[in-house]
Amino acid sequence: MKILVINCGSSSLKFQLIDSDTEEVLGKGLCERIGIDGSVINFTPAGRDKIVREVPMPDHNKAIELVIEALTDPDNGVVRELSEIGAVGHRIVHGGEAFTKSVVIDDKVLAAIEEVSDLAPLHNPANLIGVRACQKAMPGVPMVAVFDTAFHQTMPEEAYLYGLPYGYYEKFKVRRYGFHGTSHAFVSRRAAEIIGRPYEELKLIVCHLGNGASVSAVKNGKCIDTSMGLTPLEGLIMGTRSGDIDPAVVEYIGQKDGKDLAGVMNVLNKKSGVFGLSGDLSSDFRDLEAGYNKQDPGATRAIMTFAYHVVKYIGAYTAAMDGVDGICFTAGVGENSPLVRRLVAGRLSFLGITLDEEANDVHGKERTISTPDSRVRVMVIPTNEELAIARDTAALVG
Ligand code: AMP
Repeated sequence: MKILVINCGSSSLKFQLIDSDTEEVLGKGLCERIGIDGSVINFTPAGRDKIVREVPMPDHNKAIELVIEALTDPDNGVVRELSEIGAVGHRIVHGGEAFTKSVVIDDKVLAAIEEVSDLAPLHNPANLIGVRACQKAMPGVPMVAVFDTAFHQTMPEEAYLYGLPYGYYEKFKVRRYGFHGTSHAFVSRRAAEIIGRPYEELKLIVCHLGNGASVSAVKNGKCIDTSMGLTPLEGLIMGTRSGDIDPAVVEYIGQKDGKDLAGVMNVLNKKSGVFGLSGDLSSDFRDLEAGYNKQDPGATRAIMTFAYHVVKYIGAYTAAMDGVDGICFTAGVGENSPLVRRLVAGRLSFLGITLDEEANDVHGKERTISTPDSRVRVMVIPTNEELAIARDTAALVG
């Protein structure tokens, strides 16, 4: 079945058409600046050049129209007619406690997603706009919602509760949810295949290190803890997000720097992380690595602090699972930065880990990077959230 995978943001829309039988990507693209001047759609049919068009996109309905036009274009399209597309899989950021797995979208599901939108006010409304635009353009085609939070819903209470008045959980559902769940699920399952033992018997740690970054502990096939919280701001130091801080910092910065709550939150979300730590050099690890290699103090500080926090989480999750069989690196930095992997794995000798320096020198390829005598297997496993969404969609509507 041909499945259209949609990842809709407030002003962007990423799409891929995947054949779920062969798992081949038939075409993929991106609409940018939706609702803003200078909208652009780019589309790359498999094995052919990228086509870039500047077309006004006042809203997501127009964007979906253009996506369908691109996919069915007689010259550069990848399907002859729209009816060849059997289903649509949508990435939905927050499923709250309502969704523990992917579901076929109906009116009840849409209402439930809307109900938890307060928890992800930047993401869920945009995701829903994408669903509705697709429903309008492709009536009758089954749609599936795949949630970033669903995989983490197996966390026990002791892992998801904060040390706050319990009433905040009861009344407002304030708790840790975790994100990047589709990636953590995909990568941990693949790790079990690589190790060659049942998923249900393994203790795995997945380090999803991208612009957003999170770690998860997956024990016996279930997520038992993860570093992101109520929102994606908690946990590891990220590109521009602070990750864990003393909550009292919010009030203190507000007073010292004359900022209101929104101003401080903007600093924590957009000006912090490796970007802020580097002295505003860059949030991109390629720039930071270049700086590190030239002994730039800001870049070095940012990378060392980032890596240290990853090490701390790995230590904590090893304790939480009472051991670890495999550690996986994935996402932009995890897949492409031998330096970050070395700085992390180099501090894990207490786990009996020895890094194979030569194997570690890879970019974007699946590979074991620990030596054969290493007590814990360390792996680079490229994530593929779109394929995971297509698989879930095919399983539910196939
Ligand atoms: P993601 O959010 O998973 O797309 O990851 C994006 C991040 O991956 C970028 O901001 C870069 O910092 C990082 N990245 C991508 N390619 C490389 C590379 N070759 N070396 C180091 N970092 C990279």
